Amino acid sequence: MLSHNRRHNNESFTIGIKKEYKMTAVYNGLLFDTELDAIWAAFFDLAGWQWWYNPVSVGNWKPNFKVKFPCKHSECNGSHILMISIIPEKDISSWRHHPSLSYSYGVTDSSNKHIADSGALFGIGPFSTKWEMAHGSGGGTEDVTNWVNDANKLWENAVVSIDTVSAN
Ligand SMILES: [Zn+2]
Repeated sequence: MLSHNRRHNNESFTIGIKKEYKMTAVYNGLLFDTELDAIWAAFFDLAGWQWWYNPVSVGNWKPNFKVKFPCKHSECNGSHILMISIIPEKDISSWRHHPSLSYSYGVTDSSNKHIADSGALFGIGPFSTKWEMAHGSGGGTEDVTNWVNDANKLWENAVVSIDTVSAN
């Protein structure tokens, strides 16, 4: 039943991408809106980060991922949670007004419940990432390379682990 549904969904989606000329991608049997989203999902798996795709919107901002990764600092609660926007940019420095970065040091939902430690902006590759969060007794600006060993190697492995679904 599951495989039948999946095949059916892929068929209807193929029609959609032909119409829109939109490049989508498959990773681990899951369909992603963009190739870059799929690569990030693969990267999170390789890094041992928990991830959720297309989480609920925060106000007018619609993040692409929610992730949870471990933190061993005694003053943290064992992990950090980010809500992430993915943009197809290698240099994200000019995007400092992106909505994701207006949620530094905490994301709350409509009932003011804390749902993540920060909004984050991720571009193309582990060096093109940015967020600000509390950590230990302080905190500040972070990027993926502060939290993942051999991030470049993991990224290369993530890139080759996805299948592109092209419009033609
Ligand atoms: Zn921490």
